[in-house]
Amino acid sequence: MEAVLQTYGLCKGYRRFTALEHVNMTVPKGAIYGLVGKNGAGKTTLIRVICGLQEPTAGDYSLYGARLGDKALHRARRRMGAVVETPSLYPDMTAEQNLKLQHRVLGLPEDKGIEELLELVGLSNTGKKKAGHFSLGMKQRLGIAIALCGDPDFLVLDEPTNGLDPQGIVEMRELILQLNRERQITVLISSHILDELSKLATHYGFLDGGRLVRQVTAQEVEAACRKCLRATVTDAHALCFVLDQLGLPYEVAGDSQVDIYQQVNVTQLVEALQKEGCQLLSLKERDESLESYFINLVGGERHE
Ligand code: ATP
Repeated sequence: MEAVLQTYGLCKGYRRFTALEHVNMTVPKGAIYGLVGKNGAGKTTLIRVICGLQEPTAGDYSLYGARLGDKALHRARRRMGAVVETPSLYPDMTAEQNLKLQHRVLGLPEDKGIEELLELVGLSNTGKKKAGHFSLGMKQRLGIAIALCGDPDFLVLDEPTNGLDPQGIVEMRELILQLNRERQITVLISSHILDELSKLATHYGFLDGGRLVRQVTAQEVEAACRKCLRATVTDAHALCFVLDQLGLPYEVAGDSQVDIYQQVNVTQLVEALQKEGCQLLSLKERDESLESYFINLVGGERHE
């Protein structure tokens, strides 16, 4: 697996306060990596450090294999675009003028690709409207367009859906998916809402109190949050025998309890159990939701 970003024992302290504690994180090429954590967990600090906006107190990181202090890191950073905290745009300029200015800053031809970028982020019909008069969603999308100048293949977005309305959230999600699928851009995106990331992330890093408490793939989270029916019976062996006969997937959860991972025909199940001399005492739907998975990982109380 090729990694776009890797951190090695990354630490950041502010005087006596530790904002990041030995973070070892890997963002694989092609991933949409969801960095999840409550307010104050250290997401912005981590993003600021890897964007070169802040120095780590200890530890190291590599971008496309270039380590901190390597000359090659400067070149690697040009492959990265970021929107950290609020998008950095000029409110008195139109969307097009903002993009042209960014091209000039990067030493790129002023007009090349601007039309396409505006089209891509859904701002091609904003004409003479100044960015300062844009809605929050439009500002975020312009911020992404600015970050995409220079054709980076790694995009870092700090809480891009913060404050957006439901429609804005859907548009942002679709844009990120499009950038990842059609342009093969690797994305690192932070959020304090796991449910929101679950619609697009392929990998997750869970940050809590400055520590990366877990790093998992989306499949692992899905498996952990799988819906199931918990059956309580007088004889779990008999139930397993019956479930094998019916070809239903299950996991034994205790002496008298079994989790069934598929819809069952209850009448058929009860009849089959009766033949084995077993009674079905209860059948309850269980669903470890994403949010409860998150809370179980990072605890309920706030860390500010
Ligand atoms: P949020 O979603 O609220 O932005 P976050 O996960 O991005 O949260 P950070 O902004 O990285 O969290 O902050 C992590 C911790 O570091 C917080 O407790 C914050 O108060 C602290 N912190 C951040 N910047 C500074 C600073 N310049 N000086 C002192 N403490 C800071």
